Amino acid sequence: MWKYFLPTRVFSGTKTISHNNELFREIGTNAFIVTGRSSAIKSGALDDVQEVLDALDIPSTLFDEVEENPSFSTIEKGGKMLSNSACDFVLAIGGGSPLDAAKAISVVGKNGNCSCRDLFGGKDLPAFPIVTVPTTSGTGSEVTQYSILTDPEGSKKGFGMPSTFPRISFLDARYTVTMPVDVTISTALDALSHSIEGEAVNKGQNPLVKMLSKEATKIIKQSLREVLKNENDVSSRERIQFAATLAGIVIAHTGTTAVHAAGYPLSSFKGIKHGMANALMLIGIFERIAKTDPNRISGAIEPFTDLDELNAFLQEFGVGRVSLQLSEEEIEKWSDQTSKASHLKKTPGDFDKQFFVNLYKRIISD
Ligand code: NAP
Ligand code: FE
Repeated sequence: MWKYFLPTRVFSGTKTISHNNELFREIGTNAFIVTGRSSAIKSGALDDVQEVLDALDIPSTLFDEVEENPSFSTIEKGGKMLSNSACDFVLAIGGGSPLDAAKAISVVGKNGNCSCRDLFGGKDLPAFPIVTVPTTSGTGSEVTQYSILTDPEGSKKGFGMPSTFPRISFLDARYTVTMPVDVTISTALDALSHSIEGEAVNKGQNPLVKMLSKEATKIIKQSLREVLKNENDVSSRERIQFAATLAGIVIAHTGTTAVHAAGYPLSSFKGIKHGMANALMLIGIFERIAKTDPNRISGAIEPFTDLDELNAFLQEFGVGRVSLQLSEEEIEKWSDQTSKASHLKKTPGDFDKQFFVNLYKRIISD
């Protein structure tokens, strides 16, 4: 038995926003634009959006304060600004951070006195309609309901509601060309991680998810090298963007595993980019799953033939060169937290606190 659900309309191609500009009229009359500090401008996406909104006489308000790993305080500030405005839809431009922030801001802004903590209460809340324009190719946030935020203690927490699926996402790979090389690599490895973690959860049960995962992994395996050889080549960027979106559809159905949970503190407290943090955790966790269920892992990483080949691929993109020092206290605290994370329910095998202590020790630099 399986089901498939994707309420997001996806439009892809060069200048897709201007070619499909009439869609904005269906979404709303006044836009609340959410971005990071500079990527929306550098990528050219904000200019293109602004031109279309101006041509349609749709007014807009800009909130351009979203940081990497968005905090509760940024969401609450944006949410207040949205609820005090006349805006009736949210337009997110950027990487996963602005896209995730926009989803949370949309809920907080729609629900008057709601705070960030209320997003995690397990209740579905309404949101303003959300439109996304991704400028990275990694998180899949353009096709997921998820929003990952950082609480005041520095812990990353995710929520998702039916209302936080974007209504429309515009994919124009030209906007991803300006990514710095470390962001290109990290985001592609995040997409790879979604693809194979999702299939490790799915285990072939949903044939559509299986198909999307296999295709996403294949494209990243084939095209990431090409992107790095010629960073200005829009067609190879387009392939990685497509793969990231496929992998996003995968995790919209499956969620992610302990790989994501174990990587979160590295981003919150050590500044390691999200996709790179996953890549550091992937092999150790997959080796452990393979101990109890080897077929699950060989199916999940297809078309990589085994974990050695996957590891060699990750090493090629610098995973082994990440320099990291962790204190005993950090290892203790994060291992304890990770061993209790909800992601563990989706991670078959024997994962106790000691496993994560060993895993964190394994990635410390000599
Ligand atoms: P990001 O945090 O959105 O951006 C990383 C950096 O890249 C920022 O400095 C950003 O600049 C810059 N940047 C982005 N696009 C650029 C472009 N085209 N040109 C130049 N610079 C660019 O990176 P991300 O990896 O896409 O998102 C990571 C976040 O997504 C994490 O918080 C992670 O937990 C979350 N996530 C969400 C999901 C989901 O399903 N929703 C899944 C996985 C991860 P600015 O600061 O100027 O924007
Ligand atoms: Fe991720």
